[in-house]
Amino acid sequence: MLRALIALLVVLAPVARPSSAGLAARAFQASVNPSARFDALYADIRDQHIARDAAREKVRELLPFIKQDFYARGGKDAPKDAWRFPVEGYAASSIGGTNGSGYLPDGYDWFDGYKGKGHPGHDIFIRDRNQDELDDVTGKPVNVLSISSGIVVAYSPDWKAGSILRGGRYLYIYDPSQNGIFYYAHQRSLLVKPGDIVSPGQVIATVGRSGRNAAAPRSPTHLHVMFLAIDAGDYPRPRQIYPDLARIGRRPR
Ligand SMILES: [Zn+2]
Repeated sequence: MLRALIALLVVLAPVARPSSAGLAARAFQASVNPSARFDALYADIRDQHIARDAAREKVRELLPFIKQDFYARGGKDAPKDAWRFPVEGYAASSIGGTNGSGYLPDGYDWFDGYKGKGHPGHDIFIRDRNQDELDDVTGKPVNVLSISSGIVVAYSPDWKAGSILRGGRYLYIYDPSQNGIFYYAHQRSLLVKPGDIVSPGQVIATVGRSGRNAAAPRSPTHLHVMFLAIDAGDYPRPRQIYPDLARIGRRPR
């Protein structure tokens, strides 16, 4: 009997040990540069190089470490009163559509990457008739400001014209206090990178025309903004933030 039990333990041990060691190794990996890992993960999601369930598992694994990193390096929660309108010098009247009608979340799933449907965000237009990415009035680039505080978790500084990717030069910024991710797309230049901690009103980019559709002459120059709430199942889902944008865009600052 004892012999049989020992034999069974010998058989089971190699199975049990690597799996717990494997879990610990995965957790350790996720804790090292979690924002850079999220950036690489998002590139795979965007390009449809990773299956939904595997991607979702990695998001679940990484976010707690990103949150920990944000607070460990001095990140501070921003109350909604401190939020800033994301296009400097412009107001809510520059948001496309009527009372938030530009927000069309139907059919959108973040894990569909570049194949995603719908328009789960808002376009904020600048004065740029000649489409040179400069404000027609000031002759200068228009600053993109971080709405809330957070940590940059993904970006694409090297978008090139002709790319099929729609976001162009984009930024994803995770706000632990909201447990959500702000997405800013089509920019001319990016001034932050994964791992950077930002505060409300910080200049993070300039408005541009990067992205498959945004680069086309039919598209007026704009910033695309989306907010993804991480739901109870750790699933990033778009949320309508028009009321917040309208509130913080009441006057240009
Ligand atoms: Zn858009």
